[in-house]
Amino acid sequence: MILAGADVVTSLDPIRVERFDLKVKCGRVAAGAATPGERRRDCSGCLVVPGNVCAHTHLYSALARGMPYELEPPETFVEILQRIWWRLDRALDEESIRASALVGGVEALLSGTTTLVDHHASPNAIDGSLDVIEEALASLGVRSVLCYETSDRDGEARAEAGVDENRRFLERVRREQPRLSRGMVGAHASFTLSDETLEACVATAAEHGVGIHVHAAEDRADERDAETRFGLRVADRLARAGALDERTLLAHGVHLDDSEVALVRRAGASIAHNARSNMNNSIGRARIGALGPHVALGTDGIGSDMFEESRAAYFRLREDDLGGVPGWPLAPLAESARLAGRVFDEPLLGTLEHGAPADLVVLDYDAPAPLDSGSFGGHWLFGLSARFVRDVMVAGEWAVLDRQLVHAEAREIAAAARGTAERLWRRLEELPPHPYTPEGRLSWL
Ligand SMILES: [Zn+2]
Repeated sequence: MILAGADVVTSLDPIRVERFDLKVKCGRVAAGAATPGERRRDCSGCLVVPGNVCAHTHLYSALARGMPYELEPPETFVEILQRIWWRLDRALDEESIRASALVGGVEALLSGTTTLVDHHASPNAIDGSLDVIEEALASLGVRSVLCYETSDRDGEARAEAGVDENRRFLERVRREQPRLSRGMVGAHASFTLSDETLEACVATAAEHGVGIHVHAAEDRADERDAETRFGLRVADRLARAGALDERTLLAHGVHLDDSEVALVRRAGASIAHNARSNMNNSIGRARIGALGPHVALGTDGIGSDMFEESRAAYFRLREDDLGGVPGWPLAPLAESARLAGRVFDEPLLGTLEHGAPADLVVLDYDAPAPLDSGSFGGHWLFGLSARFVRDVMVAGEWAVLDRQLVHAEAREIAAAARGTAERLWRRLEELPPHPYTPEGRLSWL
């Protein structure tokens, strides 16, 4: 297959824009000229970019938009969890997990996101939940890195079931090597994890040679809890447990102090920055400049549009610092892809260099100003958006052509999800706020 006539962004960090006919062979970007008879897709006037990677999301929240809410409004981050997300996750069943993954996967592809790094929770439907998500995403052709959010907040049995689900999925991945999916070990956050559960997560990750994906210092409550219970900061606690190395993915990291930042940087761990979610939850702002080169971008479940997320993150950064951080927002987007590339053992993922997996997006963008390596960053911030996404290819196969899904009907998925969402919302309405608090932990059991 030849993608002919486009400008090709072969790398986001450093930015490289070149004009050549892009050849895809056996799922990869290939070298060499077109040979007679090769299929061609006319991409003239278009821009081909590496597929976006969302480094932290929660597909299970895809049906939450507009759900009824009749409790007192939350006033803290922990109350947001108790009254919203820890009720939603307990209401999930297999049907709603599948529908959420399909809806989230469709939105990802149509906005040019080819890989989702998901963090899943469904305390009343744990066993097999990662298979349900993996199958839903594979049916659409989206690449995924999955894990189950292990936590003690719903009691010991569910904490064990969470570890087991991560292990079961990793064993399946090892056995079957699914084309588009890999696993990590998921853990909710320090403040809902006992030492025993954290240890079990670390052991499972070590056994499979994968990293831990965990929320870290998202809110002050996480740090307060670690200091009260263990006399340690969150990152110190994770490091002591063996949960902090170059495969680790920390989500948020907003309240890491200087010594924790230094520790995380020395460990080489990645941090998924979720600017819109941080704003939406009033948790404070991450010190992006200090966090170092391993900052990736996630949405924390607010869709998967990385054009939108990266732009919001940039403007938030610029709001009170015109100096900003060099390379933004393309450097952290490239880092998101490097992170996924490490999990898939594909170091060129997120580039369109020869040999890279062919995860790419064709943007129908007639640049109204000169576009080259020097100006591309400006086009990204002030011109490009998901509305230009025409075609999407993942691992060498088209998943979107002419703005339509190749393997499914977006309309049908949405129509079916509406019924599922209604049932999910009815179950949710029956559930009181979650009683777990960092301070009064487990007293309710
Ligand atoms: Zn999250």
